[in-house]
Amino acid sequence: MINVENLHKSFGNNEILKGISTKVENQEVVVVIGPSGSGKSTFLRCLNGLETVTSGKIEIAGLELTNPKTNIHQLRQNVGMCFQQFNLFKHLTIMENITIGPIQVLKQSKQESEKVARELLKKVGLQDKENNYPDQLSGGQQQRVAIARALAMKPKVMLFDEPTSALDPEMVGEVLKVMTDLAHEGMTMVIVTHEMGFAREVGHRVIFMDGGYLVEEGTPAEIFNNPKEERTKSFLSKVL
Ligand code: ADP
Ligand code: MG
Repeated sequence: MINVENLHKSFGNNEILKGISTKVENQEVVVVIGPSGSGKSTFLRCLNGLETVTSGKIEIAGLELTNPKTNIHQLRQNVGMCFQQFNLFKHLTIMENITIGPIQVLKQSKQESEKVARELLKKVGLQDKENNYPDQLSGGQQQRVAIARALAMKPKVMLFDEPTSALDPEMVGEVLKVMTDLAHEGMTMVIVTHEMGFAREVGHRVIFMDGGYLVEEGTPAEIFNNPKEERTKSFLSKVL
């Protein structure tokens, strides 16, 4: 589903990603961990074209992002993204937040879009909130709406950048539950998180990044129980 080959990304003279290569299979759940500043967000932003790549190759669902001939809008439709800050439209209702993309971008009818939105709101446990505005919802509820909004675009891949980091602790579980359900339904996902319990239980593979390098990757058992690299061991000793 995703193929990344020797990805380099610089901001000016500052090289942030120093040759990342990895593959994500269809229906695979990959968790990216690593210290702050290691390039995790930059990596995700490259995957959906929010950053231009300095060199290397990215293919997603058969489209080559790094080929200038590729229709970037078509590629972005394949890739849903959720951020730490939920980025909902404050002046739109929950229903409008979810249906604006399908109506304006996918050219779906309002009726069809609302039907899908209600199914998605039910999936994330917010069927009674469609007429509310974002600031009437808790952080955990807003993040669940943000996930529903991304899913309404029928993505082939979902990217999550620390989706629970801005939440009060009691709301983390409800968002992780929605992500766990998605994983069990076979959604292909790349998730940056500090939730090591989630990484271990839901991740099929864990990638450890440090200093712009993909230092080590493996199954959760390999990375958490038997890390090979010193930098991985040192990081895990601080967070576990
Ligand atoms: P992480 O998500 O692992 O904390 P980031 O990808 O956000 O790491 O950042 C990695 C490095 O890239 C940081 O040193 C950050 O300052 C730098 N960086 C990120 N975005 C930009 C940008 N738009 N311009 C310049 N530097 C940036
Ligand atoms: Mg980040």
